[in-house]
Amino acid sequence: MSLNVNEIFYSLQGEGGRTGQASIFIRLAKCNLACSFCDTDFEHGVKMTIDEVLNDIDKFGCKWIIWTGGEPTLQLNDKIVALFKERGYKQAIETNGTKRVPNGIDYITCSPKQNFEKVKELIPEVDELRFPIMKGDPLPDISILPKTERYLLSPIFDDSVIIQENVDYCISLIKENPTWALSLQTHKLIGIR
Ligand code: SF4
Repeated sequence: MSLNVNEIFYSLQGEGGRTGQASIFIRLAKCNLACSFCDTDFEHGVKMTIDEVLNDIDKFGCKWIIWTGGEPTLQLNDKIVALFKERGYKQAIETNGTKRVPNGIDYITCSPKQNFEKVKELIPEVDELRFPIMKGDPLPDISILPKTERYLLSPIFDDSVIIQENVDYCISLIKENPTWALSLQTHKLIGIR
């Protein structure tokens, strides 16, 4: 069993409900979408066996993994997640909601980009829904989305530069619709990965 890995790095989660928590990011290559605002280079990867990945991450001494991408559900499956769990890792995933999330994942962040009504069929419940928002974007319709405790709006940045009009727009949406909350990409603000 192997994974096509774009990069592995150790940092703090910069956004969403786990903001500030030390995490090992495993970015898997490839995505099934091509969002215009995508700020991630996920095209290239190297093939690594599961043992190679485990040996690589054991050195960090942290027991939280974040599977990200690209779209990590294109490669992950129940068996791979179980192998990392057996080694004592808690696992979060950041998914665009276009495919089922493997069993055993401990924290699901879903950021749907299209076909919102299909996401709920694939993933009925998530730990957080996080939507990248640009000024003028409509507020997503909660009734068709997976159930969650955290509905988050994330103003889109220009690389690592905050776009104030996007932030202001999110703030006004949230004040009018208090089920939602603000999620900033704090890693970009404080200059970490
Ligand atoms: S789903 Fe995410 S990783 Fe894929 S293209 Fe869109 S923003 Fe980029």
